[in-house]
Amino acid sequence: MIDLTIVEALKKLKSREISATELTRAHLSRIEKFGSELNCYITTTPERALADAAAADERYAAGTPRVLDGIPIAMKDLFATRGIRTTAASHMLENFVPEYESTISQKYIDAGTVLLGKANLDEFAMGTFSKTSYFGAPVSPWQRERKLTAGGSSGGTTSAVAGGLAMGGTGTDTGGSIRFPASITGLVGVKPTYGLCSRWGCVAFASSLDTPGPIARTVDDAAILLSIMAGHDPKDSTSAPNQNFHVESELEPILGNGKKLRIGIIKEFKDVEISADMKKLFETRIADMKSAGAEIVEVSIPNILDALAAYYIIAPAEASSNLARYDGVRYGLRVEGSDIYDTYKKTRAAGFGEEVQRRMIIGTAVLSSESYDVYFMQAARVRRLIADAFTRAFEQCDLIVCPAGAGTAMPLDSDLSPLEYYALDLFTVAMNLAGVPAVSTPAGLATNGLPLGMQVVGRRFDDLRVLQLAKHIQQFAGVDNRPTKIMGE
Ligand code: GLN
Repeated sequence: MIDLTIVEALKKLKSREISATELTRAHLSRIEKFGSELNCYITTTPERALADAAAADERYAAGTPRVLDGIPIAMKDLFATRGIRTTAASHMLENFVPEYESTISQKYIDAGTVLLGKANLDEFAMGTFSKTSYFGAPVSPWQRERKLTAGGSSGGTTSAVAGGLAMGGTGTDTGGSIRFPASITGLVGVKPTYGLCSRWGCVAFASSLDTPGPIARTVDDAAILLSIMAGHDPKDSTSAPNQNFHVESELEPILGNGKKLRIGIIKEFKDVEISADMKKLFETRIADMKSAGAEIVEVSIPNILDALAAYYIIAPAEASSNLARYDGVRYGLRVEGSDIYDTYKKTRAAGFGEEVQRRMIIGTAVLSSESYDVYFMQAARVRRLIADAFTRAFEQCDLIVCPAGAGTAMPLDSDLSPLEYYALDLFTVAMNLAGVPAVSTPAGLATNGLPLGMQVVGRRFDDLRVLQLAKHIQQFAGVDNRPTKIMGE
């Protein structure tokens, strides 16, 4: 049952061949068996899951099922869940139990999904290997004796979904946190158009970049999850009005049968060093698309290699402002000091980990009056140039493809400097700066047997076509990502 896709499971649930309770129990025993080894959940919610499943079964029996009734999922522990601890993987929020439900998690409830637990992540979603988590890093189910990273920051969700400890789940992508972990775990990760999915009730990192999105094993599964997540939310001022995403059933082909599609390749990425495997798989997938009738064109995003520098100014700047609220007074951790300022200092020193503190310091520095013009404003200009360049590139092509990362998953004990971690985001951050939709989909397996992913990028709100092309690529690649194949029964 663990290997079923969401699409397959829904058919079996509807025909009552399986029950939501059975499906949920299968996942709960998988969590019991592998949960602590993979460390993919910060909090599991087995009682809630069984209650959700029982309610779904009643609706199936009554002939009134909801869209995703009975599908067991993992929720990144950045989305506030009423009555269930929401930590952002930080000591600061270790014991925070929200009084409210985030819009996204509410939509999952309304769709009838079963909540298995809150998935691990980098502290406040800052990181690339989920190693900054106060609760320790999640592990990839692939070649698990090697203790590889499941990526970050949504690494708990990718570990859970790839290992069969959830059928799908949520992530957030500020600079690549959905796409990068999905790419190295053989999964599909969707960063929708900025504004398509509500941020309300999601712990803020960098508000102008934060994008909630789904993670699943197939593009069709990801599309169904995105359908329930998308839509205007009056509670989020940056939520796009009059935009939605909805698929009724499996995605239609966008290639073949004489269909015309112009696919762009980014010129500036051609000189970036990537592994020989990634290079080869990327070229093979391009050849596949060509033989299916796509026209391949070269496009230019002149400043794309400056995206990293701009991102690592803008994101910390916004973070330093967003995280000012954790002061020991309003909620979360409080370490008593000699006066109020001392309490602030002690609370923030004890509550935030090293990487979060580094970002607070960078963010505060680039926003200071001496640095604002040279750093923050300059980064904002680069951001504008990149966004405009994407708009121009999409006059020459319908969709763009590029690698999702340079190589396969690294061991968790790799010793990288902060800058080396930041450099891993080279292929993903530009899409956040531009707000355009981007999906990472399996491109194939490297010679070491580990998965590699590639991205499809589209115009703002062209999320549907992005997913359609991603589905073709996943089919061309044919990576077997069934959990029992990856890590056994
Ligand atoms: N790795 C990036 C960072 O550390 C992206 C994180 C994210 O998308 N949340 O900021």
